[in-house]
Amino acid sequence: MHDFHYVSDQLSGTTESAPLLLVVDDQPSNIQTLYAIFQDSYEVCMAVNGIEALAFCALRRPDLILLDVVMPGIGGYALCEALKQDSRNCDIPIIFVTGNADPLDEVQGFEVGGADFITKPFHATVVRARVQTQLTIKRQADLLRLLALVDGLTGVANRRQFDHVLDAEWRRCGRSGQPLSLLMIDVDHFKKYNDHYGHQQGDVCLRAIAGVIKATVRRPHDLTARYGGEEFACILPDTGRHGALTKAREIEQAIRKLALAHADAPEGIITVSIGVASVSRQDPGDSVASLVSAADAHLYRAKREGRGRVCCLPDQS
Ligand SMILES: [Mg+2]
Repeated sequence: MHDFHYVSDQLSGTTESAPLLLVVDDQPSNIQTLYAIFQDSYEVCMAVNGIEALAFCALRRPDLILLDVVMPGIGGYALCEALKQDSRNCDIPIIFVTGNADPLDEVQGFEVGGADFITKPFHATVVRARVQTQLTIKRQADLLRLLALVDGLTGVANRRQFDHVLDAEWRRCGRSGQPLSLLMIDVDHFKKYNDHYGHQQGDVCLRAIAGVIKATVRRPHDLTARYGGEEFACILPDTGRHGALTKAREIEQAIRKLALAHADAPEGIITVSIGVASVSRQDPGDSVASLVSAADAHLYRAKREGRGRVCCLPDQS
């Protein structure tokens, strides 16, 4: 469910390291052969049974798995099924390595989510090409997903990702009984800023603000998104009213500290108004839409009361 969070982090921190291959085979000689083929261009790790492979995937995320079909204990197909059922591993391409190229066997392999088959004995060029093909497909799929979820101007999540994650967190917090908070953040007098400084400078300003929010809201499951034009939103799971209010004040102060000149604003600098809404225990009548409208209502109150401030419900819980 939380894969979306990881995807947005990949955009800024892409490091070009060798792809990580995991070879799972009960025969050391097979592992050695594959190791010899791939050691130059890949980081190759190995596991001699299903238990080891699952333990490895809990610690690291391979870019591709070469998986022996016939192994004592958990067989290749069962292991593939188990990996595909786990949201953290389901995107890893799995190529089956098999001794007998029975078409019925292959059908089963594709049914459990395998990407391709390689038949022993190996031909190094064929094996390399098949692995390369799967890695290319994987990289393109990752990139597409990234582009579909990230706001092009600011690099934070876009509205689509915001809607998806808010919905998922709403349901998760409903099940766990944990609180969920939402911040709606609007840049004050932004139209006047664009009129005075031009739209290119307006873009620079939005990027700077997104950077400050992202640096302030940085727990792994928090999400910063561009909600619309000059409006941002933060989803804070497992966070109650008090914690959310503290975060909101930190953001408001941090943006003040940026001291971005705004000649047409009363304070002479860029400020933001923030509305905070929290749900600590969901009632059956509550909906995710009511959380958004509550945060919106507090945001507009912050605007009405003079901007450059944080508003939320008066103390009651
Ligand atoms: Mg075997």
